[in-house]
Amino acid sequence: DLLVVGSANADLVVGVERRPAAGETVLGSDLAVHPGGKGANQAVAAARLGARTALLARVGDDAHGRLLLDAQRAAGVDVSGVLTGGGPTGVAMITVDASGDNGIVVSPGANARLSPSDINAAEPLLATARVVSAQLEIPLETVAEVVRRLPPAGRFVLNASPPAPLPPEVLAACDPLVVNEHEARAVLSGARDPVPASVEHQARALLALGPRSVVITLGGRGALVAEADGESAHVPAVPVRAVDTTGAGDAFAAALAWRLGAGDPLPAAAAAACRVGALAVTREGAQPSFPTATEAGL
Ligand code: ADP
Repeated sequence: DLLVVGSANADLVVGVERRPAAGETVLGSDLAVHPGGKGANQAVAAARLGARTALLARVGDDAHGRLLLDAQRAAGVDVSGVLTGGGPTGVAMITVDASGDNGIVVSPGANARLSPSDINAAEPLLATARVVSAQLEIPLETVAEVVRRLPPAGRFVLNASPPAPLPPEVLAACDPLVVNEHEARAVLSGARDPVPASVEHQARALLALGPRSVVITLGGRGALVAEADGESAHVPAVPVRAVDTTGAGDAFAAALAWRLGAGDPLPAAAAAACRVGALAVTREGAQPSFPTATEAGL
């Protein structure tokens, strides 16, 4: 079973001709509200692939929280670990301008109140998990508590997004640490100077920080996999016509956790994740873009 510990946000999206300058008001398109947040997205993506998935997260007692819970239930995610209250549901306020560029303000809300004691109280969910995956849109001390409470046979997958300096005990538990190219540089720049130029060297430098394995996602170029006790391998991308890359990283991380839980070796799991990530970029949005295993040919 897969346990995703992470964020749940309502994405509030408005199209604008251009973003307002300080003190200015501009008119935008109709508001669209979508379920999002890296934790919620990864749980939906994994469940849609067929993984038995539970989400441990915190939402507000409000309409956005109910929207998020409905989306999780519709995908078949076990929401018994989703806590309510402590603040409004997290939101991402997103403006998309005429050239398609995003400007985003995230208000973490309830996500910031997912505490180490919440993890403590979720012991039964943790105890049955074969793979526990987390991201960094929740407090770092909460992620550290997840690591302390991992079941003996549990495997920990950390998508270090958004990137933050990671304590050694969290790094040491990662198997793998999953980052995109930007996050790889950010994690390394906090620890190593200068950051190596090639992704192969970056993967080795990340391994030197302590994780058992590392996956660097490379967008339309696939992914690089490196294991502490093995070679690094490049996993090619599946060529597709990209329509909307939103959620590609979440689809990849979820598929990776699913296949690792099914017993695949890391390079095979990353190859499956590349298929799932590629399909996610051929469709609009985050959660609606996640494929089933059959659609991904898995
Ligand atoms: P993020 O969305 O976190 O920035 P990436 O852009 O690296 O992450 O994308 C994650 C994964 O999604 C990639 O490793 C790849 O497998 C897949 N992917 C992303 N963009 C494309 C693309 N244009 N063509 C094919 N696969 C893609």
